[in-house]
Amino acid sequence: MPLLRFLRFVASTSFLSALSSIGFAAELYDDYPKADEIPVGEVRLHQISDGVWSHIATQQLGDLLYPSNGLIVRDGNTLLLVDTAWGAENTAALLDAIDRQIGLPVTRAVSTHFHDDRVGGVRVLQETGVATYASPVTRQLALGEGNEVPSHSLQGLSSPGDVLPFGPLEIFYPGAGHAPDNIVVYVPSARVLFGGCAVHEASRESAGNVADADLQEWPASVARIQQRYPDAEVVVPGHGLPGNLELLGHTVAVVSRHGR
Ligand SMILES: [Zn+2]
Repeated sequence: MPLLRFLRFVASTSFLSALSSIGFAAELYDDYPKADEIPVGEVRLHQISDGVWSHIATQQLGDLLYPSNGLIVRDGNTLLLVDTAWGAENTAALLDAIDRQIGLPVTRAVSTHFHDDRVGGVRVLQETGVATYASPVTRQLALGEGNEVPSHSLQGLSSPGDVLPFGPLEIFYPGAGHAPDNIVVYVPSARVLFGGCAVHEASRESAGNVADADLQEWPASVARIQQRYPDAEVVVPGHGLPGNLELLGHTVAVVSRHGR
């Protein structure tokens, strides 16, 4: 960008408001558990609002200790889990942490796509009596990949824009992105959007693991999320720090750059 245009851009309100909202998010999540504070095999819970927590675990990827997020949502006197904690050991630790810190039983779990960070540990959940759910496509892709397979099918999420009420959640299929089957989860009562791996954290500048991604469709899928949830106040990405709706535009920018 030429200098003058850049200076005009810096002076513009959109840049300033982007800055202040990123600042807001960073401040809000100063205390968010970081990867280097979480040994593999341990899990942290972070309360986002009344009855909504994220769960954070790590796995070693080469030299990198990589964090992963899921969600826990209160459903009356039970809990609903969104995504495993990336592996059997982590997911057992997740159930322990929930038992100690929240003390309500997990009855249902939803996996948001077929990769290991979402279904690895499904067997541990099944063994403890948690009913595990995913879309039929996710179950089929997980089976094909040799990953663990959730027991029950979430029907009615086959076309982009499809919505499924699920207890205190709304499940939305925005279309292909990080994976062909990625779904997002919204908690209307708390205005919390769990974007999973279809949404990137603010500090993430690469498109990440795109082995199963649809880089062409991803921006349109994110646009459907923006259209469906304009009132979301907290956006939780699959990995890293939560933020606000700015994360959606950020994801489109990162993905579009990668495609070029
Ligand atoms: Zn992921």
